Amino acid sequence: MRPAYLECSACAKRHEVGLRNLCDCGAPLFARYEGPEVARDRLRPRSDLWRYAPLLPLEDREIVSRGEGGTPILHAPRLAQDLGFRDLLVKDEGRNPTGTFKARGMAVAVPMAKTRGAKALGRTRNLQRATAEVLALWIRSSHRRHVLEIGTSNGYSTLWLAWAVQPGGGRITSVARSAAKHALADANLRQAGLRDAVELAQGEGAEVIARLDGPFDAVFFDADRSSAPSISRLASVGRSSSRSTHGTPSVAKVRLCWPSP
Ligand SMILES: [Zn+2]
Repeated sequence: MRPAYLECSACAKRHEVGLRNLCDCGAPLFARYEGPEVARDRLRPRSDLWRYAPLLPLEDREIVSRGEGGTPILHAPRLAQDLGFRDLLVKDEGRNPTGTFKARGMAVAVPMAKTRGAKALGRTRNLQRATAEVLALWIRSSHRRHVLEIGTSNGYSTLWLAWAVQPGGGRITSVARSAAKHALADANLRQAGLRDAVELAQGEGAEVIARLDGPFDAVFFDADRSSAPSISRLASVGRSSSRSTHGTPSVAKVRLCWPSP
């Protein structure tokens, strides 16, 4: 079932279905559907994402599947005991082909973009706004002043971190591999009036971090999962924070979904 239109999540303006992510006001667009309700007995007899194909926007011939979705909910009795819960259920998204829940969204978004004529795709992995707010409030309320961010992307989380340290005259050092991403972050930070609070350090994470002067009193890790263990070790024991106070706190969005060693 194809979407009927795109609707702005902030100002409710409607847009034609097409290759655009954002409204003119800058907020993300949601796809809206107007088709008939789909009865439960029309769902497919399979246990992955494509069980829900009658509710999804792709035609059967457009589906390309690597087995995404259908991830199980597991009982975790020992973890429950450790944490003091009576019972604890964990949804194992690691069984998706990418190792994260994002496989489901991308399995629909990529073929859908292709049907709309896209020849190439770029994506950013910004924090959800609520997560960014919690992060920023923690940084601000605990009076952190110099934060190391690993993984700038387009500077969305950097904006929140810069906002958080600004009242105390703090600074963010944000590391990214891509010069193009740093150019985007630079523009976004300027627009928000927060550019002066941020140093953008471009290059391979591990190399750049080894050259940085600390001390940092918080580390926010938001880079790719494969380099997470080595960079994280470096950020916590390398030159960058060897002069910081012991026990520099570190927050990692991706640490929750590292592959098992
Ligand atoms: Zn809008």
